[in-house]
Amino acid sequence: MKRSARIEINLEALTHNLSVVRSYSQSAKIIAVIKANAYGHGMLSVARHLQEKVDALAVACVEEAHLLREEGIACRIVVLQGFHNQQQLEQCLLLNLEPVCHQRWQVDLLAQHASDTHLTVWLKIDTGMHRLGISVNDSAELQQQLQSLSIVNEVKLMTHFSNADDKTAVSNQLQLKVFNGLLETSDLEASMSNSAAILSMPDSIKDWVRPGLMLYGVSPFSDQAASDLDLRPVMLLKSHVIATKTVAAGEAIGYGSCWTSQRESQIAVVAIGYGDGYPRHAANGTPVMINGHVYSLVGRVSMDMITVDITDLDNPVAIGDDVELWGEGVDVAEVATHSGTIAYELLCNTGKEQ
Ligand SMILES: *Cc1c(COP(=O)(O)O)cnc(C)c1O
Repeated sequence: MKRSARIEINLEALTHNLSVVRSYSQSAKIIAVIKANAYGHGMLSVARHLQEKVDALAVACVEEAHLLREEGIACRIVVLQGFHNQQQLEQCLLLNLEPVCHQRWQVDLLAQHASDTHLTVWLKIDTGMHRLGISVNDSAELQQQLQSLSIVNEVKLMTHFSNADDKTAVSNQLQLKVFNGLLETSDLEASMSNSAAILSMPDSIKDWVRPGLMLYGVSPFSDQAASDLDLRPVMLLKSHVIATKTVAAGEAIGYGSCWTSQRESQIAVVAIGYGDGYPRHAANGTPVMINGHVYSLVGRVSMDMITVDITDLDNPVAIGDDVELWGEGVDVAEVATHSGTIAYELLCNTGKEQ
């Protein structure tokens, strides 16, 4: 029997979103980012679907890349955190992975390692985000050192924006300027743009782009919906109505009594909750679609149930009716806003088991 709370994945929408990436990316090569179980969409099925359509896949860690290789994914795989130790470096060689080097010790480890096989290495420069990346001042030296190593057959450069989703952030232009400065004195291939930068900063598009979120059909911007960008949702979170009832005016619903009816109200109980990855912090008023009509969440989200106000009953709701928590009728970004978080987190949480 199929559980009521479930995820549906629309791979055609993924293909469509890839074409949107392509339309913004000039002739850049595409690295599809599928870390965190492809943002909850299922890393293997997404990898299988994309492997021949993109130029590379990217994951966060060697463990994820290992899984992909075990399942026969043979395309280029970039490991965004690089190797964490010697053993993982050996895995990178064995599995033909492309690690990101973001600290000097990783370059040193490569220098000490004797091997007949060779690696493509991405040297990550910290242009202002101050998370991963070597400092700009060390860049020329480490580039040269990597290029001189026999274990390294190619070096590429990359950096990452800290505020690309904010089109007005001054830091975007500063980071772009710093990276462009480095590229002036280097003939290496380079990569800079995540989804938000692909969509809003054409100057940031270098030889390779690294889309994640937009592939899954979600807008990175608070002032533009996915549909405004012609992106189509890939994940649908669905369930069913399992109870309906009438409550009198002035009655509170659910744990903590955080919503009280202002009038006699019709309520639908839906089989989904924070145990299924629906955010517990979803506030009263979060949109929920039942039978194609959008209603409001009322009362606190429970572990495996939510309550929805269906009082405006032009369209009767019955037990067993279809509910969409996000997907085609409700934008996951809107649910995220009502829950004080971002769509990335909701997608990842829901799709942990995918
Ligand atoms: C996750 C990640 C991306 C993809 O970012 P989106 O905002 O999802 O497009 C790109 N580059 C790096 C280094 C990342 O960690």
